[in-house]
Amino acid sequence: MENKLDISPIEKWDVYKQRPLLIAGPCSAESENQVMETARLLSESGRVDVFRAGIWKPRTRPNSFEGVGSVGLGWLKQVKQEYGLPVSVEVATEKHVYEALKFGIDVLWIGARTTVNPFAMQEIADALKGVDVMVLIKNPINPELDLWIGAIERIYKAGIKRLGAIHRGFSTFEKTAYRNLPKWQIPIDLRQRIPEIPLICDPSHMGGSKSFILDLAQKSMDLNFDGLMIESHVEPENALSDKKQQVKPYELIEILNKIILRKPDSEDTGFINTLEELRNQIDMYDEQLFDILESRMLVADTIGRYKKEHNITILQSSRWKEIVNKAVTMGMERGLGSEFITTILEAIHQESISHQMKIMNEK
Ligand code: PEP
Ligand code: MN
Repeated sequence: MENKLDISPIEKWDVYKQRPLLIAGPCSAESENQVMETARLLSESGRVDVFRAGIWKPRTRPNSFEGVGSVGLGWLKQVKQEYGLPVSVEVATEKHVYEALKFGIDVLWIGARTTVNPFAMQEIADALKGVDVMVLIKNPINPELDLWIGAIERIYKAGIKRLGAIHRGFSTFEKTAYRNLPKWQIPIDLRQRIPEIPLICDPSHMGGSKSFILDLAQKSMDLNFDGLMIESHVEPENALSDKKQQVKPYELIEILNKIILRKPDSEDTGFINTLEELRNQIDMYDEQLFDILESRMLVADTIGRYKKEHNITILQSSRWKEIVNKAVTMGMERGLGSEFITTILEAIHQESISHQMKIMNEK
């Protein structure tokens, strides 16, 4: 049984004017000039809702640039005064929280390396008691939804009512094209568990390269995310952190202009009726699929009993290879991807085996 969640109501954010809410700015604040120039260009675009810049940077290895520290908070304050943009910063300890609040930072975000740690989350939550600030919680680096939810609960319990979640992908040992795998099902499940939570996608850290930003941002908008956090720097080529994934402010606007925003619903009755009909068809096919699976399992049960009577092992690998090869050919003729075919076939096979195991072990 899942624990009951008590995260309601989440207050509407004052910074949220239209979808997508856009948080942009450099990975790290590096100098006053770099921060002010980036903020000027982003603010002139009129498209940015919140300016971001990390000043305490959680670097994987020591001796990398670890951020400018509190001096950067003064630059962020200046951005707020000069351009009227709300400003945001990453916090990972209670000291970060106190410092950021002292400088009037509007939005605090919790990084992926902090969300994984319940002690750190509790320390931050305690420092936030009685404070009215907006807090965004990135997913933990590992794909564990409960850890993400737990971090959100701790902040909510501290009395923070303006909060949101940032999906930045999950790290893997294997080398993949993306820096962090999206695993979209996880934020979708998060929304199921906490329907009101505003969801922001961070395609910069997910893709790890500027070439992936548009596609990932588009995908998140198609999944009805509320906003985007995108890293932007006046001179990405000279950035002290996350060089490859940062875009110049004008490139950020080009990306934004290419995103197609689809509505979650329509009032057009013709469209609604057609969609309803198509969905009925999907439901009907799903039912048929399960009927077929049931019939297939019944045959597998019969085979199981038969094998038991004749003292034959459950697994016969030559037969399994034959099934896979046949299915891949059949599936591909029907326009299905080979990876998809093997995935469902393996799941079905696993289910057949556990049915047969049960039969074998029946007294
Ligand atoms: C960042 O936003 O600069 C950052 C460090 O992100 P993450 O926690 O997603 O790695
Ligand atoms: Mn970064």
